[in-house]
Amino acid sequence: MRQRIKEHLVDGSDREICCFSITCEECGSVWKSTAKRFSRRQEDHHSESSRIIAQALYQRERTQNMDHALWEAAHHFNSCPLCGRLVCNYCFVICDDLDMCRNCASRLHETGESVLERV
Ligand SMILES: [Zn+2]
Ligand SMILES: [Zn+2]
Repeated sequence: MRQRIKEHLVDGSDREICCFSITCEECGSVWKSTAKRFSRRQEDHHSESSRIIAQALYQRERTQNMDHALWEAAHHFNSCPLCGRLVCNYCFVICDDLDMCRNCASRLHETGESVLERV
């Protein structure tokens, strides 16, 4: 599941803010992870050595933030066992036997409750 999410994770980070997003394959709504500010700005470093350290820090924080984004996304997205798409909670339906996306549910005439009823 983490791998599925990772494939869909879009890096929207810039030099200061680290943020990832995922688009629901059913309704097209975009979810964004909690934005985090990088602890150091890369522009502040002028010497080669401090630039290298800043670069490594940036990469490490980016990886940590990506891990956190994956964890967050797991609460918002589901992988449909039938069509294999990654859909948001709103588009994922809890059915009697097998939970599936809205599209597959209507195709198979399954009825169920959405994980998240949109208000
Ligand atoms: Zn959706
Ligand atoms: Zn499906």
